[in-house]
Amino acid sequence: MSTAIVWFRRDLRLADHAALAAACAGHAHVLPVYIHAPQEEAPWAPGAASQWWLHQSLGALSEALARQGGRLHLAAGDSLRELERLGAQSGASAVYWLRCYEPALIARDTRIKAALRERGVAVHSYPGNVWLEPWQISRAPGQPYRMFSPFWRKLRAQLTPQQPLRAPHARLWMKLPGSLSLAALALAPRIPWAAGLAGNWRPGEAGARERLRRFGEQALPDYAVDRDRPADPGTSRLSPHLHFGEITPRQVLYGLHKRAERLGGGTHAGLEAYLRELGWREFACHLLYHFPHTSEGSFNPRFAAFPWAEPDERTLGRWQSGCTGVPLVDAGMRELWSTGWMHNRVRMIAASFLTKNLLLHWQHGARWFWDTLVDADLASNTLNWQWVAGCGADAAPYFRVFNPFTQAARFDAEARYLKRWLPELAVLPAKLLHEPWRDPAALARCGYPSPMVEPRAARRAALEAFAALPD
Ligand SMILES: Cc1cc2nc3c(=O)[nH]c(=O)nc-3n(C[C@H](O)[C@H](O)[C@H](O)COP(=O)(O)OP(=O)(O)OC[C@H]3O[C@@H](n4cnc5c(N)ncnc54)[C@H](O)[C@@H]3O)c2cc1C
Repeated sequence: MSTAIVWFRRDLRLADHAALAAACAGHAHVLPVYIHAPQEEAPWAPGAASQWWLHQSLGALSEALARQGGRLHLAAGDSLRELERLGAQSGASAVYWLRCYEPALIARDTRIKAALRERGVAVHSYPGNVWLEPWQISRAPGQPYRMFSPFWRKLRAQLTPQQPLRAPHARLWMKLPGSLSLAALALAPRIPWAAGLAGNWRPGEAGARERLRRFGEQALPDYAVDRDRPADPGTSRLSPHLHFGEITPRQVLYGLHKRAERLGGGTHAGLEAYLRELGWREFACHLLYHFPHTSEGSFNPRFAAFPWAEPDERTLGRWQSGCTGVPLVDAGMRELWSTGWMHNRVRMIAASFLTKNLLLHWQHGARWFWDTLVDADLASNTLNWQWVAGCGADAAPYFRVFNPFTQAARFDAEARYLKRWLPELAVLPAKLLHEPWRDPAALARCGYPSPMVEPRAARRAALEAFAALPD
């Protein structure tokens, strides 16, 4: 009657979980475990919004297991020590998990795998929350991709919808005494924006499935166009669910493919556009795996010499709190603070303003996003910040600087997004909403600041700094 431990990490679900399925198939008793060890993710331990999500998601997983008569055993501290302790207590002969791909976690897991095997415990790890693992795709043997388009062509050609694994049920779940309570993990910090997070999200596997269903029904057909309009619910908002592994890319592919077949017509364009975005998520994972230094330093070594401005608290504070005087940037930063999420188009504009108008190093922005995004993900955050700053792999060229005013006029023509997040501007006549600084008296009346920098002058300064870089 053998026992196995299933070590849950970034895979807080029961369905389509290869490690859980294999442990249940191969052992009479299964002990589901979560170990809180943020120090092992340093220097990128989960930020405040991620901790909030994790708290809710662990609660949802615990409830799902409890409905089957099981219990998620919670522990905290050093992962290896805890696994050894739980192994001794349960008599487990094997530990199962799904792989993670961030550099710190790869190093930790490699160490733990070796240590457990040395003690005679079998370790079985399975592919993590991706379509293809980062080493399964390359442009030539030993040569990772550096450009998205060829990466995506190769990956897309290999994608076929596959029936996801079902959640195992009616197992002989093992319960051990000594589990910590969820509250004891102290994951739900008293963050000022917790109420906003709770009002906008339903963390957990059921919440993820519900999002997928709603997106497939309501937004998939028009996704290719609507995904760029921040005022509308045109995107899936699955990013935090994907990050925490509450749903898998395979489930998403399978579910949306079925929906597109049923709807027919133009839905396939929406599906293709959507899969391509998930392709960016895979590309981010691929890049961070093959270039692990890029979460700290620019991919393009030329940028090591870039004369970034000295950050001062006041400047950063205005950007963080959405008080730059540039409406689209401010609306996005306030959406982020209120909901833990920001629309992708607006993320690009806010990031561009920080790096190319204020000339601040992208790491300052990446750190703020890390703390405030519920979908904070080291690979995706790193790739996108570097893409916008112009120093990443396959990045937007440095000289292409988003104009936040024309972007607002183009993607939020009726200023519905601006009015939602900057209610003080709603009193202005429509023609002023995108460029309120054109009427200083009206601006003063509504209590909104004038722009911190004049975008055209700031753009020139950025281009001069770039031109001065050594080749
Ligand atoms: C400066 C900046 C920082 C970002 N930081 C993160 C981050 O920390 N975590 C994160 O998940 N995304 C990040 N993104 C990418 C993107 O903004 C979000 O993935 C997207 O807004 C999530 O919303 P959604 O689920 O509704 O997206 P949808 O449009 O519904 O897209 C579906 C899925 O595709 C993936 N995806 C979409 N766009 C991208 C992209 N550009 N890069 C990587 N994956 C993508 C996400 O997993 C997303 O859930 C960042 C973008 C920028 C410009």
